[in-house]
Amino acid sequence: MPSETKPANPFRVLVRDLPASRRIAVTPAFVAEAVKGLPLRDALGGDDGEAATLEDGGTAELELYGDGENVHASGRVTGKVTVACSRCVGPVALELDEPLHVTFLPAHAMPSELDEDSAGEGVELAENDLDVYPYDGETVDLEPLIREQYVLAVPFAPLCREDCLGLCPQCGADKNHAPCACEKPVDPRFAALEGLKLPS
Ligand SMILES: [Zn+2]
Ligand SMILES: [Zn+2]
Repeated sequence: MPSETKPANPFRVLVRDLPASRRIAVTPAFVAEAVKGLPLRDALGGDDGEAATLEDGGTAELELYGDGENVHASGRVTGKVTVACSRCVGPVALELDEPLHVTFLPAHAMPSELDEDSAGEGVELAENDLDVYPYDGETVDLEPLIREQYVLAVPFAPLCREDCLGLCPQCGADKNHAPCACEKPVDPRFAALEGLKLPS
């Protein structure tokens, strides 16, 4: 592509430019910003996104077209995000490859709640079938949509591997590297956790 004047904001698409195709480079800084508010990262003290690596990031490719006041966007978000293992705090690289089909509605047309009149039509617009985002009627901002894909890619309790042994709760040693000499903890909270199967 020839280099021209730098576009203002790659995430923004003017409705008057539709239909449009966008190929947006997602930077490591964007990914770090997107995932830094996640509870897990807060719990681990990752408050400035330092866990993001240079490989984090990716590409969002979207086709957008107008349909009356609505704007449909479909395409794919691919990339990678690195987070901390929920047991040992080691890095977990998550691959992201998600198809996207969403509709942007003018803010005034956002369904706050389905009213009785639209209930008949509303059936096929069940919440899990329709991803709806608001826009101001002139400019579609793709940033919240793309940020959300990276947030959703992070499981509640990421694991570096299924059988990660985690850190010893007493001495803090990474038990993946070497067993430590501590006795098994007697704290009932840890005893209860032993039986828990964490979702992967
Ligand atoms: Zn781990
Ligand atoms: Zn120990």
